[in-house]
Amino acid sequence: MSKKKNGNVQLDLFEALSGKVAVDRERARADIVKKVDRCIRLLNEEWGMNIEMPELRFDLKGAHAGQVITEGSDALFPVLRFNLAVAIANWPDFLETTVPHEVAHLGVHAKWGRRPRVHGREWKATMATLGVPAKRCASDSSTTP
Ligand SMILES: [Zn+2]
Repeated sequence: MSKKKNGNVQLDLFEALSGKVAVDRERARADIVKKVDRCIRLLNEEWGMNIEMPELRFDLKGAHAGQVITEGSDALFPVLRFNLAVAIANWPDFLETTVPHEVAHLGVHAKWGRRPRVHGREWKATMATLGVPAKRCASDSSTTP
């Protein structure tokens, strides 16, 4: 480890300790698309369903990390929105937890419709199927009914 006492070394150390990885917008987008696809394939295999890839938008701003919109659109083609700035600031945690979190909302809607509670047992079971701890994210703004 370097003994330099400038800000760069401190930043490197912070990044090493926090496990953060630098990623640019294009790479983040591409990785999120791949992750959504992998999660949906996994749910389809486990459930014997044919959930289709949703429309993905990277237009979410502010503190919200992700959002699923099912109301007002065809139930087969909901929209998943992600906040790229939040994704990059929280990489790779965002990829490993926030993306499956939102896909799980999508899966719950596809399998159980609008009856389940937003972070209820169906969502928790779906997170378990995806192999991700079912931790509610404070910046989640899902509108899944
Ligand atoms: Zn949520």
